[in-house]
Amino acid sequence: MLVGLPTLRPWLEDFYRHLHAHPELSHHEVATAQAVAASLRDDGYEVHEHLGGTGVIGVLRNGDGPTVLVRADMDALPVAEATGLAYASDVVVTDDDGNATPVMHACGHDVHVTCLLGAARLLAQDRDQWSGTLVTLFQPAEETGDGATGMVDNGLVGVVGSPDVAMAQHVLALPAGTVATRVGPVLAAADSLRITVYGRGAHGSMPQASVDPVVLAAMIVVRLQTVVSRETRPGDPVVVTVGSLHAGTKSNVIADRAVLELNIRTYTEESRSATLAAIKRIVDAECAASDAVAPATIERFDRFPLTENDETVTERVAAAFAEHFGARADTLAMQSASEDFSDVPNALGVPYTYWAIGGVDPARYDEARAAGRLTSDIPVNHSPHFAPVIQPTLDTGTEALVVAVLAWLGREGARAPR
Ligand code: ZN
Ligand code: ZN
Repeated sequence: MLVGLPTLRPWLEDFYRHLHAHPELSHHEVATAQAVAASLRDDGYEVHEHLGGTGVIGVLRNGDGPTVLVRADMDALPVAEATGLAYASDVVVTDDDGNATPVMHACGHDVHVTCLLGAARLLAQDRDQWSGTLVTLFQPAEETGDGATGMVDNGLVGVVGSPDVAMAQHVLALPAGTVATRVGPVLAAADSLRITVYGRGAHGSMPQASVDPVVLAAMIVVRLQTVVSRETRPGDPVVVTVGSLHAGTKSNVIADRAVLELNIRTYTEESRSATLAAIKRIVDAECAASDAVAPATIERFDRFPLTENDETVTERVAAAFAEHFGARADTLAMQSASEDFSDVPNALGVPYTYWAIGGVDPARYDEARAAGRLTSDIPVNHSPHFAPVIQPTLDTGTEALVVAVLAWLGREGARAPR
């Protein structure tokens, strides 16, 4: 069944090259969304546009059965492409501050869009092989962490109802042709905090008249080091980084405030909330110890939720992958990156799984690994050199989506293409 892939392949590859050459920044995925909506309409999907800005949802109802939601992200990054590919992006846009900003699909979201459109088309062509409802969701602004919540806040639930399962995939610096799944935590939760502490400004020669925010901030930075070293169970990966610290203007002026910016990565909701609570406790206590003139303000920004794959859902997808891909189906290592995909299933209250597909020429990958040079020779996501090979990456990503969807919707005896 679904023998349409070889026929579809030239269209998929052309679509991908065009999309790669025409990337759009987060919240600006206008042309991409239009192309997505047009393709879904051609395939007979009920199309909903402009959710959370540029979000697109395509629904295909095909008889009784479960509802499966599959998501792709659409945005590119402010990166100057250096791949030298014939279809490389030379797009430069003007940002909100008037600065010229290069744009590149440096995270491979063009792969995700192309493969989901491919899977949507194959499944629309072969409706007698499955039964149920397929929901394809094309999300804006993953890179800024607010695209999924933007769709949720803009009526997502009313459009998609209550699916039985949600899924998504990401192309990573793994051998092309492979797929990789993982049960449990797979991507870190990320939180950024902007903490402002309030002292009392004074002349640098009269510390007795001040509450010095520089000393206060320094104490906070030092004490924060104990959150991981003294409060976190060894083996539980938690990162607390103070990435920026600003106070004062001049050597003989004691400032009246200091601003710290923190980045936090965790892999369980439990350690996430414990870490955030410890940070607040330390900040408040150091402010009290310094006799700060006002309570600290803690502002949260650039938040990414934990991605924690449901065991039952993931094992069902992994079994389907093992049957379809054989030795090309593998286990995914836990990733330190973060994603906002899980905001969608979490808002809907449905279980989910998130897997990886490879994008690196397998021969090149093996060569680099044999030389012990994987990290230095193979560009990762967000690199200006990140360039997934078109094949077998697009075939694999398209097949993976079809296989995973059919694990829920496939009729008895139906099989995905080999
Ligand atoms: Zn990214
Ligand atoms: Zn990405």
